[in-house]
Formats: sequence, structure tokens, C-alpha cells
Amino acid sequence: MHTDIAEILFDEAQLECIVNSLAERINKDYSGKTLEIIGILKGSVVFLADLIRKLEIDCTLDFITASSYGAKTVSSGKVRLDANMLPDLKNKHILLVEDILDTGSTLAGIKNIVYGKGAFSAAVCTLFNKPSRRKKPIKAEYVGTDIPDKFVVGYGLDYNDRYRNLPYVGVLKPEIYTGINKIKE
Ligand code: 5GP
Ligand code: MG
Repeated sequence: MHTDIAEILFDEAQLECIVNSLAERINKDYSGKTLEIIGILKGSVVFLADLIRKLEIDCTLDFITASSYGAKTVSSGKVRLDANMLPDLKNKHILLVEDILDTGSTLAGIKNIVYGKGAFSAAVCTLFNKPSRRKKPIKAEYVGTDIPDKFVVGYGLDYNDRYRNLPYVGVLKPEIYTGINKIKE
């Protein structure tokens, strides 16, 4: 285990189980339809890469960039969104793929953009959900699992762009972002 990690919450096998059950539901719900998948960069990429390889439906893949944290572990509440890479979404079924649904600000902003581009439907698939921190009335149709209000990294999730490469999801030691061992910003 990485020395900056206090505890592992989900190991590789547990993550695989979560991804499999999400994929099974999506395959069933969108059977016979074309699904436009939109990954929310960067945190969702590892999860998304695993998820799409379990999908048997007809689908396309695009990305939107969202950033709100900077080198912080608490959201600033201001989300920067860059939708320049999105194609025309008129009358399409969209699945927004996110790493963590936290306050809901990111997904509220993205849903506005996607419906503004004429989407027929926009469902949300999130690996993790922190229900205790919600500020916007956003619900995810597909939730991998609820987690407590702890700052987690790994499997695509970062602190200051580090730790995305860890194959598991763990709680970051608080001294990494508060104390003398703080990593360079
Ligand atoms: P929201 O807009 O819902 O408040 O923020 C969602 C985003 O905050 C997620 O996409 C994720 O990037 C970030 N986030 C929320 N909780 C955590 C966490 O525990 N660890 C990490 N690395 N990012 C988090
Ligand atoms: Mg994110």
C-alpha cells in the first residue's frame, strides 16, 4: 500500500464487482438503443475504461472537462466546465459518467449544458456517492456505492493530480494536505 494512504476502502476485486453490476444494469436498460456516453474528466477515466468494456450495447464516447478542487480537498463550489469537445447531442440518450457525486454542483452544471444541446435524456452513472454532502437536487440513476464523507484517492481519483494510478481506492492521510508532508502545489 502507498505510504500516503491511511486505509484501503475498495480493493481491485471489490471495484470490479461494483463495475460489473453497474454495467449489467446499463446493458439491460439501454438494450436496443444507442447510448452517448460522456465521461467527466479527469477523475472518471479509469472507472470509465473498465465500465465501457463491460457494455454490450451500441455506444459512443465523448468527454467534458470539469474542475472545482485545485489543490484542495473541499470543493470551492465553483465548477469550471469545458464542453468544447462535445458533439451535437440532439435527441440522444446520454449517460454522464462521474467518479464521485458530492455536492452535485458539477453534475447540475453538466446536465444544463447537455439538455441545452438538445439531449433527449441524460442519466448519471457515478462510481461513488456522498449523499451527506449534497447541495443540489441531483440524483444518479446508477450508483456504484455510497461512501462516507472522507477524502478518497486512487482508481482515477486524485489529490492535486496525484494518486490517480493507484489500482485501489483509499483514504488519503490528512497530513498529506494539512501538515509538514504536504505535497507541492
Ligand atoms: P461536486 O460538484 O458533486 O461537489 O463534486 C464532484 C467532484 O468532486 C468529483 O468529480 C470529484 O472530482 C471531486 N471529489 C468529491 N469528493 C472527492 C473525494 O473524496 N476525493 C477526490 N479525489 N475527489 C473528490
Ligand atoms: Mg471529478
